[in-house]
This record gives sequence, C-alpha cells and structure tokens, in this order.
Amino acid sequence: MEDNKKIESLARKWDADFFGVADLSTARDAIFEQGGSAVAGYPLAVSIGISLFDAIVDQLPQRMEYGVAVNYRHHCYDVINQRLDDIASKISSVLQNDGYRVFPVPASKRVDDERLCGTFSHKMAAHLAGLGWIGKSCLLVTPEKGPRVRWATVLTDAPLNVTGEPMNEQCGTCNRCVEICPVKAFTGEPFRKGERREVRYDASKCDRYLALMKEKGKLGVCGMCLYICPHGRK
Ligand code: SF4
Ligand code: SF4
Repeated sequence: MEDNKKIESLARKWDADFFGVADLSTARDAIFEQGGSAVAGYPLAVSIGISLFDAIVDQLPQRMEYGVAVNYRHHCYDVINQRLDDIASKISSVLQNDGYRVFPVPASKRVDDERLCGTFSHKMAAHLAGLGWIGKSCLLVTPEKGPRVRWATVLTDAPLNVTGEPMNEQCGTCNRCVEICPVKAFTGEPFRKGERREVRYDASKCDRYLALMKEKGKLGVCGMCLYICPHGRK
C-alpha cells in the first residue's frame, strides 16, 4: 500500500511547497479531450507546486525593461519548471519502482499550438486536490500564495488518499485580472464546473501579445494577471 506521508515527505524534501492528491474520475472526459488516451487512464494525480519569488513577480509592471524580463523568465519560469520536473521525475521513479503506473506531465510544455495547451491541465489537478480555486484569470489561486505558484503533475494508479475537495471560487466581485490584461483576454466570467475555458479566456489573445513582444525584440513576458491578484500579494 502506497503511503501519502511517504510521497509528500519526499516531495517536500525535494523542495515542493504544495502537495496534493486529486481524484480524476469526475474529469475523465475533459482529460481525454485534452490529452487523449495516454493520459486519460489514470485514476489519481499527484499535484506539486513551487512558489514564485515575490520580489521578482512584484517587478512585472516594469517587464519592458530587459533585466526585469530576464529575471522573471529565468527564476520564475525556467528554473522553477526544471525543479518541478525533477521532483515529478523522482516521485515517478519511486512509485514505478513500487510497482505502480506513472505518467509525469512536464511542468510547462505546450503540445497543441492550435488549442494552446499542454497534455494535461496542472491547474485542474491542483484544483481537484483541494489546493486552490480557478480564478477569473483561469489561474489556480491558492489561499496561501494566490496564483504565484507553478505546478507539475504525476498521473498514477498508486493507491494514495485523495487530499481534498475542489475549492469554491473566491474571486467574488474582484475583477482586477480582467481589467489589467493589456489585450483583454478574460471575459470576467467566474469558473463554473464543466464550462469550457473559452467561456472565460481567449488564450490566442495572450499568445499573440507575447509573440508581438518577441517580434519587437523583447522577451515574451507578461504575467500581469498573476501579479495583480490580491491573493498572495504582500
Ligand atoms: S499574461 Fe498578460 S496578456 Fe496574458 S492573459 Fe495574463 S495579463 Fe493577459
Ligand atoms: S485578480 Fe481577482 S478576479 Fe482575478 S483571479 Fe485574483 S481574485 Fe479572482
């Protein structure tokens, strides 16, 4: 019998700030639609998160300055994604060596340029594991750090205990991410179970904005929706 305590203590030893286990049974159709049969056959997801660095996130309004963009891209994106992938890989090895099926999902790799998404939604797994709610920004908002967290997932059939229920959204009347987005990518609709992402978010607007920055010789960095959220802000 696999033990949550063992996996969580390993994840935390390897520097995960957030740990949860999600029951995927209610999301099977959406998982299949996004990633196909390779990812849809797992009953559980181990969700791990690492907090971003507040001092770097708080500089995002000055992101047009090259140094600010470089710092964010390096320490709040590349390095943390690599650390998440390392933890997910190690957890996967432990579970596989114990005899279970595992599928580590990369922390941040787009696999579909048309739908602008990865193989699997890390935010959905963290939401189902009870670690936060899906905000109007479509980001996973945690009570502790708001959306200032990056995520990775290990899909598995190991008999772990589910750690929580999906948290109800707590955006209320707040609309700050909707208002600050330079390309108005959000509609302002709150998350409702079963509703498609497109009801709340036009990912192509964000994608085009970042592409335009790159065409102008800048780094494609924005994150203002993450920066402005009152949850997690000091
Ligand atoms: S990263 Fe920037 S452009 Fe993209 S959705 Fe967030 S605020 Fe809008
Ligand atoms: S900025 Fe406001 S509306 Fe947007 S995710 Fe955060 S709490 Fe929700």
